[in-house]
Amino acid sequence: TQLTSREALRLEEQYGAKNYHPLPVVLVKGEGVWVWDAEGNRYLDMLSAYSALNQGHRHPRIIQALKDQADAITLTSRAFYNDKLGQLYERITRLTHKDMVLPMNTGAEAVETAIKAVRRYAYDVKGVPTDQAEIIVAEHNFHGRTTTIISFSSDPEYQRGFGPLTPGFRIIPYGDIEALKQAITENTAAFLVEPIQGEAGIIVPPAGYLREAYDVCRQHGVLFVADEIQTGLGRTGQMFACDWEGVLPDVYILGKALGGGVFPVSAVAANRDILGVFEPGSHGSTFGGNPLGAAVAIAALDVIVEEKLPEKSRALGEKFLGWLRELKHPAIKEVRGRGLFIGVELHEMARPYCERLKEAGLLCKETHENTIRFAPPLVITEDELAWAFEQIRGVFAEE
Ligand code: PLP
Repeated sequence: TQLTSREALRLEEQYGAKNYHPLPVVLVKGEGVWVWDAEGNRYLDMLSAYSALNQGHRHPRIIQALKDQADAITLTSRAFYNDKLGQLYERITRLTHKDMVLPMNTGAEAVETAIKAVRRYAYDVKGVPTDQAEIIVAEHNFHGRTTTIISFSSDPEYQRGFGPLTPGFRIIPYGDIEALKQAITENTAAFLVEPIQGEAGIIVPPAGYLREAYDVCRQHGVLFVADEIQTGLGRTGQMFACDWEGVLPDVYILGKALGGGVFPVSAVAANRDILGVFEPGSHGSTFGGNPLGAAVAIAALDVIVEEKLPEKSRALGEKFLGWLRELKHPAIKEVRGRGLFIGVELHEMARPYCERLKEAGLLCKETHENTIRFAPPLVITEDELAWAFEQIRGVFAEE
């Protein structure tokens, strides 16, 4: 049955747990950068499902891969091999310059996998005493919502009522090299970091930070683990945000756009000395590496490479950032970002602005109350982006 927006919204509100606060818009169709509600109103998607839709909604090539694979085989489990997973491994290793991959489904699962890998590496390879391994993380990080991952959040709202928490993490200020140096001990397994903090509000670290942090880690035998779930796969104007400083992390964590906006696919990529710590029985996932997800992810990566989405993101991001910086409005505190990964921080709540942008035909979501995130699908054209900017200018001209 085709429900009206009002009916669909009411059902979600009546039966769903209230762990989200969505904008009141009910989407029934998407294509490229555009989405439609049940009444046929069209909106430009400026969130891209938190960067899981870098290739746009229903990219024809990705949908074709999904359909073809659905007609062949969808799930084998890892009890058997399938003919798509190895091809996905090959593509990921080529992009990351790593020689091994471990597939999972959601971002949080891939982060958990990386945590297990670096802990075991610390014990088996580095010789850290049992259960003493430490992982350094940054303040205001966001790596997901599992019990272990929220254990090293610095946001009390992510943790309240969910204890006891998992020990073994040390939080340091983001962008502070001295703090990193001081936090390292002989038990430090890894430094887990977002190359640009996404959920924190598109926080770009000081120039040189990633490079210096990588070098410090290297000097001390600490693994540098980049959570590129949101920043990777073209979003910031490079294939990976670490590329901005020529850093090749020891461990990549990928997700979101790896599934092409169609299917949850995540992965950890690292060299054999690290991912080789897993033997049969030590880790796994019923759905991780399934042929449907693998076929989709292969197409998703091919689209990113062949349509040069990182280059597009860089060129259009520069323009968009320039336009946004020319907005003069007392509510605007700062405009920042890289590629089409842009935050506009306000002196006031961002939600009312997101609601007005929605009325103007742009779907955006506030992050951390004061920041509006602009992250459209990377297949956006310059004309579409210019149209989006006109709507933004209109909203900021209203007062
Ligand atoms: N890591 C980062 C940097 C993210 O931005 C996110 C999601 O926003 C995650 C991990 C968690 O991914 P998922 O929601 O797929 O578990």
